[in-house]
Amino acid sequence: MQIPMSSPDITEAEIAAVSAVLRTPVLSIGPQIVAFEEAAAAYAHVRHAAGVNSGTSGLHLCMHAAGVQPGDLVITSPFSFIASANSILYERGLPVFVDVDRATGNIDPSLVAEAAHDLARGGAAARRWLPRTAETVGTPRAVMPIHAFGQPADMDPILAVAADYGMAVIEDACEAIGAEYKGRRAGALGDAAVFAFYPNKQMTTGEGGMIVTNHDEWLTLFRSLRNQGRDVFDAWLNHTRLGYNYRLDELSAALGLAQLRRIDDLLARRAQVAGWYNERLADLALLERPAIAPETTRMSWFVYVVRVLAPAERDTVMARLGAVGVPSRPYFTPIHLQPFYRERFGFRRGDFPVTEALGDCSLALPFSGVMREEQVDYVCAQLRSVLA
Ligand SMILES: *Cc1c(COP(=O)(O)O)cnc(C)c1O
Repeated sequence: MQIPMSSPDITEAEIAAVSAVLRTPVLSIGPQIVAFEEAAAAYAHVRHAAGVNSGTSGLHLCMHAAGVQPGDLVITSPFSFIASANSILYERGLPVFVDVDRATGNIDPSLVAEAAHDLARGGAAARRWLPRTAETVGTPRAVMPIHAFGQPADMDPILAVAADYGMAVIEDACEAIGAEYKGRRAGALGDAAVFAFYPNKQMTTGEGGMIVTNHDEWLTLFRSLRNQGRDVFDAWLNHTRLGYNYRLDELSAALGLAQLRRIDDLLARRAQVAGWYNERLADLALLERPAIAPETTRMSWFVYVVRVLAPAERDTVMARLGAVGVPSRPYFTPIHLQPFYRERFGFRRGDFPVTEALGDCSLALPFSGVMREEQVDYVCAQLRSVLA
């Protein structure tokens, strides 16, 4: 048996929706994105949504909206996909990494508080939070918690610290559409949030992303920035500011709208697959299953990530699984240990011990909403024999 790492869940409804767009002359800037945005805002329990061509583009525009300028600081965690930190660099801001909670892999709110406090004091107290190559202590402008693997970060203490120190809160909700924190939707917690729709996410548009916010003026800004810096009332080819081409085309928007109509079903299927894994892996002493915090009132399963415990070794387990047709991936590889970040910022192993420990033992297993129970059986049987 050869098991895919992930698969999108596409039905005739999606195929019909995309085909219908192809029968019209409007392939970009049309009714599909408007409808998709309205549905996305309603689903996320926020007032506004702006479609963009990737989650990464969305995060970039949020850094701009948060007012990040060259040298400004953004507090975030290194246990994430590289796009979250890269979005800070696009605006020439500086990431202030703080370590994560071991149970969930989400940013540790007590470290966010400590960092914010020290950064406000300045001098040596502030410097110890900065990358080694940083020359000056910039202004802390934003906090970017990541809802890792579809589980919301512990937002209330983060929101409180951000309010105290005048920082914007941007949720990297790229892995967490539909998740809930104490009954509140991911995406409705901070100043703005971004969902991503790459084919391995809970729902897909091929490539694409969606920014959500309750700030009216941010919506206007996002619409301008994604469309080459044109303002709504600009004449043709009049550009008010430096913008980008981050538009989401009509085919992708139609696909997204069809997927969003099925989102609760898509999430329920993924939860069922996660449940099958949980049952079958419960008695394996060398594995730790995903931990769900009490504040997580709804998990939006993006990936199923286990921790391989000593004396078993993650890389050996991964290689042996691969040999029997079961793909698996280290997830995440810490951002601060990526070659580019080491070189540019002087990060090294030892800087963020919890993130590094998780990076060393975390293994994402094949996972999607279209996975069949026999496939989960097969993966678990192989995992069991590899660990024996
Ligand atoms: C998927 C993802 C993104 C953005 O991804 P795109 O491929 O640009 O859509 C950002 N952050 C995290 C944590 C992600 O998982």
